[in-house]
Amino acid sequence: MLSDDLIKNLQLLKKDGILFLPKYTPATQEKIGLAKTEYHTTVKTSENIAITKADKMAQLQEQIKNCQNCKLSSLRTNIVFGEGNLNAELFFVGEAPGENEDLQGKPFVGKAGILLTKIINAMNLSREEVYIGNIIKCRPPKNRDPENDEIDACINIILAQIDIIKPKIICTLGRVSSKTLLATDEKISKLRGKFYDFRGIKLMPTFHPAHLLHHPESKKPVWEDMQMIMKELSIPLKK
Ligand code: SF4
Repeated sequence: MLSDDLIKNLQLLKKDGILFLPKYTPATQEKIGLAKTEYHTTVKTSENIAITKADKMAQLQEQIKNCQNCKLSSLRTNIVFGEGNLNAELFFVGEAPGENEDLQGKPFVGKAGILLTKIINAMNLSREEVYIGNIIKCRPPKNRDPENDEIDACINIILAQIDIIKPKIICTLGRVSSKTLLATDEKISKLRGKFYDFRGIKLMPTFHPAHLLHHPESKKPVWEDMQMIMKELSIPLKK
């Protein structure tokens, strides 16, 4: 409901020939000289959202820093929590840390990581613009596949990370992360190439970069999957 005073003022403006009012934007706010503090309300709100996400992620990291919920805890050098942009639209999920990741405490930093970075760059993105994590946070011995009890013990961490970041798209890298999040035993070669729904988020399964190191013929289908993601995120293809 418009107040009586506002209706009177609008009628006076109409008599003076002013039939339309400019749409309110920060630029018009500056033009009409409103106090700058009024912008700050908006800016402060978005800062607060970012701080809340950072706080939640830091809290989660703190909670798991000494995690001993599965047998991998005694074998690890470092927990590989995950890293990237907390406001990322795209979240890459691998299966588990390897040797380099275990030593450095960072995800995807070995040969497969270098290839993942190249894929991200080819998508007109940087590692700083996406988030990268794994289904389990500690390295399995000799890089074997994570076992079901380890996935069960660790799964809530990646689910919490997805919940904090709320990406538009999740890209699962390889069979383990794809079958875990999609609860299927289907082969990755059958799963890839289309989006699935994961708790209201679009999920694209594709081959793991480590697979591409030994099967370069799989690079083409991976690039097709990445192009579908780019289209969904309105990222233009490089010319
Ligand atoms: S793999 Fe996950 S559940 Fe197991 S010890 Fe590491 S952080 Fe904990």
